Amino acid sequence: MSLISGFEDVVKENEPLAPYTRLKLGGVAAWFAEPQTRQQLIGLVKNFSENELPIRLIGAGSNTLIRNQGVGGLVISLASPVFCNVEVNDDTMIADGGVKLVDFVATAVKQGLNGPQHLVGIPGTVGGALHSNTSAVGFDIGTWVKSVDVLTRSGELITYQKDELSFSYRQSSLKDLIILSATFQFDREDSEALTKQMQKLWIVRRATQPAAETRSAYVFKDHGGETASDLIEQAGLKGTRVGNVEICDSDPNYFIANEGATAEDFQKLIDLVKTQVQDQLDVGLETSIGIW
Ligand SMILES: Cc1cc2nc3c(=O)[nH]c(=O)nc-3n(C[C@H](O)[C@H](O)[C@H](O)COP(=O)(O)OP(=O)(O)OC[C@H]3O[C@@H](n4cnc5c(N)ncnc54)[C@H](O)[C@@H]3O)c2cc1C
Repeated sequence: MSLISGFEDVVKENEPLAPYTRLKLGGVAAWFAEPQTRQQLIGLVKNFSENELPIRLIGAGSNTLIRNQGVGGLVISLASPVFCNVEVNDDTMIADGGVKLVDFVATAVKQGLNGPQHLVGIPGTVGGALHSNTSAVGFDIGTWVKSVDVLTRSGELITYQKDELSFSYRQSSLKDLIILSATFQFDREDSEALTKQMQKLWIVRRATQPAAETRSAYVFKDHGGETASDLIEQAGLKGTRVGNVEICDSDPNYFIANEGATAEDFQKLIDLVKTQVQDQLDVGLETSIGIW
């Protein structure tokens, strides 16, 4: 029996991954699945695991660079509505892994739940954000977590309570294959006040962040109290280009992939910045973006 028999409707072979990422770069996935039910998701995970093939999860693809050679094994997307539910009960929100961060923030603000407004304008999904503990202006998504439901590589469902999880700068202990959903708890606040706060934060962010339609990525982690943006600027690298990939002027920790850019150019620019910052400032920058 084939690996995908019974799942032909939701699995594509040799599917280009570029359209599923913000950078729109890189090669194909050997198999790409958008399961429509939890049973399909579990079935696919079990099939590929039993055959010892790699499985990866892609959220909104805003923190991922795909290499030209693409990836072997299965790439799963939770874009189907069944993995994108949000529910609010009093001071608690349950959000599925596929929920877009923009909807997570908008729901919280509308329902008077204090905190997510700080993440306004960050592209991504709840699953992707929990995976790398997405943060802005000193607030990270892990702070509000009460529990998280995951699916393991062997197809087992597990619920972690807050005290079993740890979140730190741009990382979390959530290493299981799939973050299915999370329960968050917030302080309550007047919705109008939260809306105003969110609007102010958005104005500040919009001044430096490339527009939504720009093929861009936030590349490095900050280092020891200094932002990656400041370090890149201090090394005199603002505006540097490799091929058609360039460092953003308004905030040099964003790299922009222009028309004709390749994943190889992107990787070369990452390496160039790392080398220059190391040589000039004696700082080893670490990438925040995941490279597949
Ligand atoms: C313009 C711009 C601004 C940004 N600003 C910020 C910022 O201020 N702060 C910040 O922290 N980040 C920022 N980022 C980075 C990025 O937006 C966040 O990391 C975001 O949370 C990534 O979510 P995603 O769904 O796009 O992840 P993806 O790129 O799809 O995936 C990232 C990682 O998460 C894993 N993953 C995704 N979904 C799941 C899931 N359901 N279960 C298990 N693993 C999963 C993937 O396997 C991968 O390893 C920015 C990026 C851009 C392009």
